[in-house]
Amino acid sequence: MPVSTFSRGLKLDTRKHTTEGKPVEPAPFPRQVVIPVNQHFGAPNRAMVSIGDRVKRGQRIAEGAAPGPMTVPVHASISGVVKKIEPRTQSNNTDGLCIIIEAEVPETAEIPADETFMPPLDPCNCTREESLGRIRDAGIVGMGGAAFPAHVKLDPPPGKSIDLIIADGAECEPYLTTDEAVIAGKPGMLIMGIAIVMKITGVKRAIIGMEDNKASLKPVLEEEIKRSVFIKDLDISVGLCKTLYPQGGEKMLIKALANREVPSGGLPMDVGCIVQNVGTLAAIAEAFILGKPLIDRDLTVSGGACKRPKNIRVPIGTIITDLPPEFMDINHDRLRKIIFGGPMMGNAAASAAIPIQKNTSGIIFMTGDETLTDAEGPCIRCGRCIRSCSCRLSPVIINIALESSDMDEAVRAGLVDCVECGSCSYVCPARIKLVQRFRVGKQRLRAMKAMSQLQARAEQRQEKGAVPAEKVVGSTNPGKD
Ligand code: SF4
Ligand code: SF4
Repeated sequence: MPVSTFSRGLKLDTRKHTTEGKPVEPAPFPRQVVIPVNQHFGAPNRAMVSIGDRVKRGQRIAEGAAPGPMTVPVHASISGVVKKIEPRTQSNNTDGLCIIIEAEVPETAEIPADETFMPPLDPCNCTREESLGRIRDAGIVGMGGAAFPAHVKLDPPPGKSIDLIIADGAECEPYLTTDEAVIAGKPGMLIMGIAIVMKITGVKRAIIGMEDNKASLKPVLEEEIKRSVFIKDLDISVGLCKTLYPQGGEKMLIKALANREVPSGGLPMDVGCIVQNVGTLAAIAEAFILGKPLIDRDLTVSGGACKRPKNIRVPIGTIITDLPPEFMDINHDRLRKIIFGGPMMGNAAASAAIPIQKNTSGIIFMTGDETLTDAEGPCIRCGRCIRSCSCRLSPVIINIALESSDMDEAVRAGLVDCVECGSCSYVCPARIKLVQRFRVGKQRLRAMKAMSQLQARAEQRQEKGAVPAEKVVGSTNPGKD
């Protein structure tokens, strides 16, 4: 069986054994959800409901504050009453506006499935615009972690020619088995989601990429592809890659499956590819077939301090510690670290009382044996970080540049090409928090760019004299919005 891969990368202890092969268990409906108004990469949303409003599961409760493509709506994930709208800590450790909904039923009663979904939409008999509109209206974002609006990814700018769709089921992060559970549990929805995306983009070839530790699922998918009535003249295949971190990164998967190199500063579309996570593709199919917006999330809950590791499905906004202990129980005596996402690319959280979002692929409750707590030491110039970087960067050089606040040098050394995989931090014998610094460095770079754009606009206004504000906005955004 041919198995492809990319250069460099790390062979990690995958620690998936406690949840792999386990189907997704729907959690008991929570009595309260805390739904962040902004869960996507892009322009901000505003709340569309007020305190005291009654809302139904599936109802739109937040949408873009201004018109534009880089936003997706947010929907109520349980029916109930809006109790509060206030800032709460989110999984990226920042405070963001959240809508808190409480179920309106007695404590002992079952929560009814009182839903309001969109009408189903036949993907074979609708226009490209209707399809993109459905994906946007369903609030679908990349569920692998990036939370990029799915409809934007599927609508590349003119001049970009796409000839390959890659369904990302690599799931290279240790502990996480959510994508595996989606592939095993919803193969029909996954294939249908791929076919819908192929119809929208006009692409005739797709590959479902998985690490070879999931090889047993290949025949399941191939059988489903044979059976599917949706694919007709489409070429959908399954590609196995080596189990090697970070195989699930877009650039690495494209290299492994298509032998194409995304250029420095470029995107998959620059080499004719669109990569979508398998969970996102299944959610796209559900938005058409069931009219269901993205209101539930499958995720892995694992780690040595988790008494019942499992793959679960919860309404978005669920707080894991609100679930009954017979379903989800944590050993607080052994707990040392909580990670939202995987241990390599996820965020450490101060508490588990943080809502599950559209892009939360897992929550890992780690013991002292599973996590490194050594203090940082000085760099010993060993070069291990360089040898581990699959983007062929020099993390040590980027770090030195950031330490001396030399942003130009950090950019020259490849800061913007860093995919934040965390491999360099993992191998560093001095325990230097390289990737954490690179994240902060990138935020700083974005802030500097935004600031210089604002400055340029202000200078433009000054040069033009007293121009009405709306005219300035129009003139600086030709053809946008
Ligand atoms: S520099 Fe970035 S891409 Fe390279 S190993 Fe470190 S985190 Fe990964
Ligand atoms: S791995 Fe750590 S100690 Fe070694 S060169 Fe890189 S930053 Fe320095």
